[in-house]
Amino acid sequence: MAKKYKIIYERSLCIGAGTCVAINPKSWELDNSDNKANLFNSKIKEGAADVFELEIDESTLQIEIEAAKGCPVNCIHIIDVETGEQLV
Ligand code: SF4
Repeated sequence: MAKKYKIIYERSLCIGAGTCVAINPKSWELDNSDNKANLFNSKIKEGAADVFELEIDESTLQIEIEAAKGCPVNCIHIIDVETGEQLV
C-alpha cells in the first residue's frame, strides 16, 4: 500500500511571503482577503483554530517537502502518517 503523509499548515503564522505558492502552485495559493496562503483541499484540524491538514502520498511528497522547506516562518510541516516522523 502506498505510504501516506500529512501536511500540517499553521495558517496563523503565515506572513504571506508566497514561497510555497511559487514552488507549488498546484497546492498553494495566496488568499487576496488576508494575504495568507491557502492549502487546496485541506481540512481544518480538529480542535485547532487555524491549523489545516491534508493527506498526500509519495506522488507529491517531494514537491510538498520543497514548498514546506521554503517557508520562511516554518509554518508548513510534513508528517509520515505511519511512523509519526516529522519530515519538515
Ligand atoms: S511560504 Fe509560508 S509564509 Fe509564505 S505564503 Fe507560504 S505558508 Fe505563508
